[in-house]
Amino acid sequence: MIINDIRNVTDVTDVTDVTDPTDPTETPLKRIREEAEGGLCFDAKTGRISHIEEKEMPACKTEAENNPRVLYYAARRWSNHPFSEGCSSAPNRIYFEVTNQCNLYCKTCYRNAGSALPKEMDTEGAKNLIKKLAAIGVHELRLTGGEPTVRADILELIDCAAHCGLYITMGTNGIWSKAMTNALTERPIGRFLVSLDGPGLVNDNIRGAGSFAMTMRTMKTLIDKNRNVRVNMLLTRSALKHLDEFAEICVNSGVLHLSMIVPRPAGRAASEALSSEIPTPSDMEDAALSIVPIKKRYGLSIEFQYNIYGDHVSGQGSDPVVQKILSCPAGREAAFISPEGLLYACGCTPDWAGNPSRKNTFVAGNVTDMSAYDLWRTWQTSATWGVFRALHKSKDKSCFACRYYGAGCFGSCPIHAYIEENKFNGSDPMCWVGKNN
Ligand code: SF4
Ligand code: SF4
Repeated sequence: MIINDIRNVTDVTDVTDVTDPTDPTETPLKRIREEAEGGLCFDAKTGRISHIEEKEMPACKTEAENNPRVLYYAARRWSNHPFSEGCSSAPNRIYFEVTNQCNLYCKTCYRNAGSALPKEMDTEGAKNLIKKLAAIGVHELRLTGGEPTVRADILELIDCAAHCGLYITMGTNGIWSKAMTNALTERPIGRFLVSLDGPGLVNDNIRGAGSFAMTMRTMKTLIDKNRNVRVNMLLTRSALKHLDEFAEICVNSGVLHLSMIVPRPAGRAASEALSSEIPTPSDMEDAALSIVPIKKRYGLSIEFQYNIYGDHVSGQGSDPVVQKILSCPAGREAAFISPEGLLYACGCTPDWAGNPSRKNTFVAGNVTDMSAYDLWRTWQTSATWGVFRALHKSKDKSCFACRYYGAGCFGSCPIHAYIEENKFNGSDPMCWVGKNN
């Protein structure tokens, strides 16, 4: 199926009602999208993405013309201008924060989640947005929050995304009712990113009493049903002391992937109450050093921004991103959409550092009332993204001289540098290597 021209499409149903998700013989096999040069192919079964050479594109198009399960986004027809540089032609992944509500109140929450925001999208608005994202060739829809499963219509949104042929993933705390567990395990969700911040009480001290046991119960169900699970752990100083124990728990539970996430000073993670838990650069080095023996001992695949001592994966191994070798995906391959419809590059920006007004620096627009085409043009042309797309503006100069840049580390975090030094290409406060360069 060819998605030819979205410029004049007012009802995106024409180009997004592409599959019956309950019939495995109908669901998309791959999604191909034209880039400035060649294309990107998203494998709907594995969730992996790969480059297509320019010379192979005509054959891909012919395949899509003959096979409705191959979706081909003829994006070069959508504009008379060359594509913007430093980004994919459309986001490969959108993190859709479907609600700010949460059934936990974690000390590490970057978005200060708790109760619903005043202007969260209603069901129709959220479904329309999902259809527009599918129409512009977004490959992966990451449902997140807050906690996405507390949104009353979450199953309807998942079903809508599945009908559009999107690859669906979900970031969740795993605190689910039995009915929700049953409903979610029946749905075509490609990967669950389950948050746990360490073993037992280490987790509960951050995420609330009893949460470890409840999340582990959900995870066991998912793994028993052969669902793809990655554990996301925010690296506090307490968690760092228990890395080995936590890795053993993960492996014994059947988890194959662990992502150790660096805390950024946003939302409650920026609060005074958490300051003693924020790792120092030397703690980060300890974490990087510990990955090698843990992997050897347990066979667990660990993703970590400064994974510079082990066998290197470019960027993060389980992520369908392409350019992460030299940069984080923010504004280059991925973006966030808030519950009210704000499009911004990275989740660590809104309401961060206790100063909500500064988030506007990062917002490209409110996409709720945009047509699919305007949404796509916003991704392509918004001045907001420029700082993420030009490496000299987003990377510390010591990264360019660092032997680990592009070989285990994708370089400094522009948001964190901006918060600390008021410049995106300032040095990464968590990096111990750059300071010694
Ligand atoms: S200097 Fe830059 S590239 Fe090198 S380890 Fe630090 S953040 Fe990564
Ligand atoms: S801007 Fe920083 S926190 Fe956001 S994705 Fe990039 S590295 Fe991660």
